[in-house]
Amino acid sequence: MEVQEQWGIHHYMELFDQSEEINYLLDRHGHFLYVNKRAENISGFKADSIIGKSFTQLITEQALPQTVDYFQKAVQGLPQHFETQLRHRQGHEVDISVSVIPAIRDEQVAFIIGITKDISERVYSSKRLKISEARNQAILDAALDCIVIVDDEGKILEFNSAGEKIFGYRKDEVLGTYMKDMLLPPYLREPYVKAMDAYKQTGAHDILGKRMEVNFIRSSGEEFPVELAVTVVMVEEKPIFTAYIRDLTDKKLAETRIRETQAQYHSVVDTIKEVIFQTDEQGRWLFLNPAWEEITGYTIEESLGQICLQYVHPDDREMNLKLFEPMLTGLKTECRHEIRYVTKKGGFRWVEIYAALNVDEHGAIKGTSGTLMDITERKKMEASLILAKEEAETSSRAKSEFLSSMSHELRTPMNAILGFAQLLELSDLSASQQQDIAEIMKAGNHLLDLINDVLDLSKIEAGKVSLSMEPVEVKELVMDCIALIQSTAAKRNVELVLSPEKCRDIYVYADYTRLKQTLLNILSNAVKYNVDGGKVYLRCGTTEQGRFRFWIEDTGQGMAEDQLKQIFEPFYRIHPNSNVEGTGVGLSIAKRMMQFMEGDIGVSSQLHSGSTFWIELNYARSPLLEPRPDPYRLTLTYQEPNHALQPTLLPYTVLYIEDNKANMLLVQRIFEAYAHVRLICAPEALIGIELAEIEQPDLILMDIHLPGMSGLQAMRVLQSQPSTQHIPVIAVSANTMSKSIKQAEAYGFKDYITKPIDVPQLLEAITRILHTDQTCPAADSETSRL
Ligand code: ADP
Repeated sequence: MEVQEQWGIHHYMELFDQSEEINYLLDRHGHFLYVNKRAENISGFKADSIIGKSFTQLITEQALPQTVDYFQKAVQGLPQHFETQLRHRQGHEVDISVSVIPAIRDEQVAFIIGITKDISERVYSSKRLKISEARNQAILDAALDCIVIVDDEGKILEFNSAGEKIFGYRKDEVLGTYMKDMLLPPYLREPYVKAMDAYKQTGAHDILGKRMEVNFIRSSGEEFPVELAVTVVMVEEKPIFTAYIRDLTDKKLAETRIRETQAQYHSVVDTIKEVIFQTDEQGRWLFLNPAWEEITGYTIEESLGQICLQYVHPDDREMNLKLFEPMLTGLKTECRHEIRYVTKKGGFRWVEIYAALNVDEHGAIKGTSGTLMDITERKKMEASLILAKEEAETSSRAKSEFLSSMSHELRTPMNAILGFAQLLELSDLSASQQQDIAEIMKAGNHLLDLINDVLDLSKIEAGKVSLSMEPVEVKELVMDCIALIQSTAAKRNVELVLSPEKCRDIYVYADYTRLKQTLLNILSNAVKYNVDGGKVYLRCGTTEQGRFRFWIEDTGQGMAEDQLKQIFEPFYRIHPNSNVEGTGVGLSIAKRMMQFMEGDIGVSSQLHSGSTFWIELNYARSPLLEPRPDPYRLTLTYQEPNHALQPTLLPYTVLYIEDNKANMLLVQRIFEAYAHVRLICAPEALIGIELAEIEQPDLILMDIHLPGMSGLQAMRVLQSQPSTQHIPVIAVSANTMSKSIKQAEAYGFKDYITKPIDVPQLLEAITRILHTDQTCPAADSETSRL
C-alpha cells in the first residue's frame, strides 16, 4: 500500500474499475500489482487471484518468448503495442491485443500500465478470410481452363496458372493490363469493346451464360481456337466479368485427324476389291462396301437388312451353315472357307469368306464381321491346272508305257541280233568278218545299254521307281562293284586303289540295287574317262553333318567349270563323239536315285588333272546288332488233337532269295542255331527259281525288291510251274505299305515279313507255315521246336 500510495496507484485503480477494457498494473518483474474486474471475463480467473502472480503464467507457451521480449522493452521505458495469446482457465487460447506503457517516477520506470483487449473475433475472421482467399486461389490454379477476371473497364484482375500455360504469359505480366490488348486478336477488339459498352449502358448481352468458340492469341502471336464462357457478378454496383477459356487446339487437331482417318478409311473401304461386311445376330447384312455390288451385282441399298444366307448358292447353303456352326456355338471365334455366292444376273461367283464373331461386353453374340474375297478366277485356274495335270499325267503315263513297251519290243530283236552274232563269232570266219561281227556286237550292246537307260529314266520321270530302303553293308557293296569293274579297269590299264576292308561293319540306309548301280556308274566313269596308267581311289568317311560319304577320285581328263554344271543333265556328254562308250544318262539317273534315297551326289574337278565324285547317305544300324532273343530259338506250341507223339525235329530246307548281303548274313546267322535247318541262298530271282526246282525246299523266303526280275514276278513263275507251285513262299520286304502287303497276299505269298527283320516274327511265321503245310505225321507234335 505504501508503494501504491507513493506512486499514486490507487488513482489508476479507480479509473480502471470503470474501464470497458482489461486494465492492470505490473511491477518491473511482471507481477500483477492490480487487475480490474474485466480480466475475469477474458482469463476465467478472479481478479483477486491474479494479483501477485506473474503475467507469464497467463501467456501461452508458444507466445511467451515474444511477449517477455515486449515486456522487457517496456521495462526499459519504451511503450509496446502487440498481439499475443493467453491461456484461459478452461484451457483454450484467447487472442488479445496488449499495450504496455511504462510509468516513470523519479526518472525511472516505477511500474507498467497494461491495457488488453479480446481480439479473438477479429483474428478468427481474418483467418477465415485468408483461408477463403487461399482456397479460391487454389481452385483457380487447379482449374484446367484458363480463368480471367476483368473489371468493368476490361482490366485484368485475376489470371490463373492454366492461363499462364495456355497464353504463355506470367500472371504478373497480365494483371492490370486490358484483356482486349493482351488476349484478343486485333479483329475482335472492336466488337468486344462495343459489347462491353452496350452491356454497361443497357445490360444487353449476347455472350453471358453461353458457350462459344472464338479465337484468342498467345504471347507468341499465334492465334488459337478456344471455347469461351463468361459470367458476371456485380460488386459495388459494378460488373465484374469472369471468362472461362478452354484451349481447343488439341481437340481441333484430333478432330481433323479423325476426319482425315475417316476419309482414308472410307476411301480404302470403298475402293478395296474385297467385300467388307457386318451382320446382325439374325444374320442380316448391316454393312456392305461397294465391292459387294461389283461382285454380286446387287446394290448395297437393296441388300442391307436382307438375310445373308439367301445370297449363298442354294447347293452350298447347308455346307455354309455347317462351316459356321463351330463359330456360332462358341467352339471357334472365326471361320474361313470357300463357297459360291449368287449374282443378280443369275450366275455365281466363288468367294473365300472370312468371318469373326462380334460379341458385346457380356459375351453375347451381336453378329459377325468379315470379308468376302472373289476367288472365281483362281478357282477357274485351279480347275484348268487340275485338268492340265491330269492330261500331263495321262500323257506321261502314255509316254512311259510307250517307252516301256518299245524297249521291250526293241530288246527282243536285239537279243536275237546279239545271240546270232555270238553264234557267228564261234564259226569259222575270216579276220575281216570277225572284225565286222565285233562291230555288230559292240553297237548292239551299246544299243541295249541305251534302251535300258532310257527305260530307267522314263520310269523315274513317271515316278514309278519303288525303292527298298534297308541297311546295306558298305564293304559288301564295294566288293560287288570291284568284281564287276576290275576286268574293264585292267583292260584300260587303270589301277583301282580301293580298300573295302575299311568299310567293314559300316551300314548305310539305301536301296541295295540302286546304290550299287550308282556307285558302279561313278566307278566305271572314273575308269572310262581316265588316262592310260591312271588310278582310281575310293575312300569313305563321315561328313561334318554326320553322314556317310564315298569319295571316288580319278586321275583322268577332268572337267571344266561349265561342264561340271551340266553333267547331271540327261544325255549330256562332254565328248559325244569320242570312242568311249556311254549314253550320257547314267549320272542323271544317279542324281535322282540319290535324292530318292535321301542322299546326295556331287563332284569337284579340274581340267586335265582328274575329278572327285562323292555320294552321301545316312548311316544305318547294323541289322546284326538289332536286339533279338537269346539264343535265337523260339518254342512254339502246336496243338493237334488226338495225337500225342514225342516232339521230333525234322530236317528242313529253306531257300532265301535276297540281293542284299547284309540281310542274307543275318538270316544265315539266325539259322546257324538250328542244325536241322539247311539254308540255301540266291542273290537274284532267276537263280532262286532254278534252285527251287532243283532243291525242292520246304519253304522259300523271297525278297520282293530284287534286281532284274522282281519277287512278285518270280512268285508268278513259281506258282505257274508244277514243280514249285506247292512250296510255301514268305515275302520279305522293306515296304510296309498295306497296299503292298495286300498285293503280296493276292500273289499267293503265305506271309509278309517287313524289314528290318524281326527275328521272333520270322521264326513264328516259318514255324506256323511249315507245320500247316507239313504232311508228314512226325510233325504233328504237341510241342514243336523249329
Ligand atoms: P556316260 O554314259 O556318257 O558315261 P554319264 O551320265 O555317266 O554318261 O556321264 C556324263 C558325262 O560326264 C560323260 O559323258 C563324261 O563326259 C562326263 N564324265 C563323267 N564322269 C567323268 C569323269 N570321271 N571324268 C571326266 N568326265 C566324266
